[in-house]
Amino acid sequence: MRVAVVSDIHGNLHALEAVLPAVDAAGVDEVWCLGDTVGYGPRPNECCARVRERAALCLAGNHDLVVLGAIPVDDFSGDASAAALWTQTVLSPEAREFLEPLVPAAKRPGVELFHGSPRDPVWDYVLSEQVGCWSLRATDAPVVLVGHSHVALGLRDLGDDGVAGGLAPAGTELDLACGRWLLNPGSVGQPRDGDPRAAWLLLDLDAQRASFRRVEYDVAATQAEMRTARLPESLALRLAHGE
Ligand code: ZN
Repeated sequence: MRVAVVSDIHGNLHALEAVLPAVDAAGVDEVWCLGDTVGYGPRPNECCARVRERAALCLAGNHDLVVLGAIPVDDFSGDASAAALWTQTVLSPEAREFLEPLVPAAKRPGVELFHGSPRDPVWDYVLSEQVGCWSLRATDAPVVLVGHSHVALGLRDLGDDGVAGGLAPAGTELDLACGRWLLNPGSVGQPRDGDPRAAWLLLDLDAQRASFRRVEYDVAATQAEMRTARLPESLALRLAHGE
């Protein structure tokens, strides 16, 4: 089975609409979304509608849960909080109905999926080798998929020797047959690894291959929508730099 893994779309419809044709061109059986479909960005309802149409599986992320009111907004700092409060005011009944039943963790044969990590599916950030190591120890799944950090990552379990690998820039190809892996596809709608292009991961579970992909999108169009919505300017500016 070939799967397109997307995460952290964050209401950025132009980024999502650039990724979906690339996913179609790659010929996948399913799309899996690791959460944070809303929050930060200007088009939460349209992003929920696209994900609902296209994804066979979708997790809840911390932003989705805050927007739904399932987590208090005080858990967020300034810009994230302002954007979550704005999203609450525009969220459609259909988008709410889509988001409400979602949970932050799931399993598929040979794969476990988390928004954050196996240690804390909602909040834990896997951004260091140590946390990657702890995360791999917390499960025995051959492939562990995580989102949340907005940084594309591929870490291989080396047992007592910790982990190997790290950042997974565009074009990174991994052989999953050689061990257990923790993979983060990066973020569709707000990348933070220095590459502003929308990120996604092609996972071929039969061939045991992972391929990290990036797609250019119209950053200026999303920024213009954010300014019209009066979302925090710093959130618009960071999209241009991918940080
Ligand atoms: Zn996120």
